[in-house]
Amino acid sequence: MKSATYKQKYQRRIEKYAAVRGGEVLTTYESSTAKMRFRCAEGHEFETRVSQMLGRKTWCPICGRNAAKKTVLAKSWATLQKIVQKKGGTIVSDVSEYRGLSSRIRVRCREGHEWTTLAMSIRQGKWCGLCSRPGRKYKPQEYLQSLFRKAGYKVLEPLTQGMKGRYLVLDEQGLPKKISPYQVIYALGKSRKTIEKQYL
Ligand SMILES: [Zn+2]
Ligand SMILES: [Zn+2]
Repeated sequence: MKSATYKQKYQRRIEKYAAVRGGEVLTTYESSTAKMRFRCAEGHEFETRVSQMLGRKTWCPICGRNAAKKTVLAKSWATLQKIVQKKGGTIVSDVSEYRGLSSRIRVRCREGHEWTTLAMSIRQGKWCGLCSRPGRKYKPQEYLQSLFRKAGYKVLEPLTQGMKGRYLVLDEQGLPKKISPYQVIYALGKSRKTIEKQYL
């Protein structure tokens, strides 16, 4: 039988161990192989064998798992950032909303198109649907820019909505108007194909 003073000494040692970590001991020390109950600073309660805890310098298993998960998420997010930056885009969503590759994130391409997609898709190399439409041989903004220029318009806003947008321009007389790329093509009296061939 171990003496009461030994047990008290051990109890104090454990209490100190818990206090250093902002937690507390909820049970009394009986033996090094018996389980004791603790509460961590986050309020998680857990049971563990004291000898193991002191020997391996472990603490709350729930906090441990959360910390590990955070590290994994941070790494996964950093990888996504790298992929998106390489393509000249930005992630619009905040890292705090990120829960892993099955999360939906909002992304903006270099042309200013925004869309929501699974983080997994970005990881797999998928990118802006508007920019990567099959058969698209031109950079949308540059194409639109040259189209408006050809028709004598001065564009006053970013051409970020592709062919479907209506953009504020100044016409040859310097008057402002809202006009779509299709109207410009129509005004030029040419087909879109011809224009793409001629000017790009
Ligand atoms: Zn905890
Ligand atoms: Zn795009």
